[in-house]
Formats: sequence, structure tokens, C-alpha cells
Amino acid sequence: MMATTHALAGLVVASAAVVVAPGQATTALLAGAAGGLFPDLDAVVGTHRRTLHFPAYGWVVAVPAVGLAALVTTEWSVALAAFTVAAALHALSDWFEAGREWRSWERTSDEAVFCHLTGEWLTARRWIRYDGSPEDLFCSAALAGAALLVVTGPVRWLVVALLTVGTGYTLVRRRVPDAVDRLRART
Ligand SMILES: [Zn+2]
Repeated sequence: MMATTHALAGLVVASAAVVVAPGQATTALLAGAAGGLFPDLDAVVGTHRRTLHFPAYGWVVAVPAVGLAALVTTEWSVALAAFTVAAALHALSDWFEAGREWRSWERTSDEAVFCHLTGEWLTARRWIRYDGSPEDLFCSAALAGAALLVVTGPVRWLVVALLTVGTGYTLVRRRVPDAVDRLRART
């Protein structure tokens, strides 16, 4: 899924804090969005969908973090819980997408996300055919709608901005690989 969809999913997960820890809600929402984005940094710093994606081990960190936040509710513990749950959810949800290839609609790879627990790539389920697909945008819109029901203040603008960027990306997504190839050929 698009990074913006993952960020919105993290935001929606973190919106639980609005109910259970309203004093820490804004930090939690931002931490949730950041946690949703975080795993995809491995596209830059390592092997995409492997180095920073932990579909199983992520929960080994996230579940105790939620427990800690419930026991000791501070700004930092709630933010840590939101961040780790959002990051674990991101890695797990990549399993339901296409393979990790650049032109995922060509279906040349079944490698969805690496599971460090089993030491294997999880097989792509392809519920979402590729990042930036219409169904991906639909998920983004649904998540943004859910978030807007809960969040208030400046975070609402973050939700709108994420959905706007996601919409723009969806419009050009299938042309991006060719455009990048042309740019590379020129340099
Ligand atoms: Zn990912």
C-alpha cells in the first residue's frame, strides 16, 4: 500500500488514544502516523519490505508497549505504543498486497514481506494489486474518513494532506516507473 495509506492506518489505530488517554492524544496520533510510515524507510536504507518490516516480531514489541501504556500512561508510553502498533500493522498488511516489485501489476514476484520469525518471504495475497491502485486509494479514503470522525485540530489537516498526496500518487502511479527509467537513462 501507499505510504500515505499506512500513515492513515497508523493514525486510525492511534485514535484509540483520543478515547483512553485524551491528554496524550495529539502525540499519539503523530506517533501512529510516523509508525505507519517507518517500515518503508527500508526502501532507502536496506532491503525493501525486509530490513524494517517485522510482520511477526513487530507484535512482540507492540503488545508489551500497549501493556506498558495501559499501566503507566504518559505521553511517551502512549506514543511508543501507537508507533509500534502502527509499524507492526504496516508490516503485516503488506502481506495482503502485491509482491514487492516496482511494477507490481506485472506479477513477477510473489514476495510480499519478509517474516524474520520463519526466515521466509510471505506470499503476496494481492488483495491490493499494487500501491497506488484504486482499491488502495479506497482504503486511504475510508481510513481518512474514520480518522476525521475522531481527530480534531491541526491533525485534521494532516489527514487531509495524506489523502491528497495519496490521491495524486494514485493518478500517476502507473506512469512513475517509466518516468524514473527515462530520467535514469538521461543521467
Ligand atoms: Zn511496507
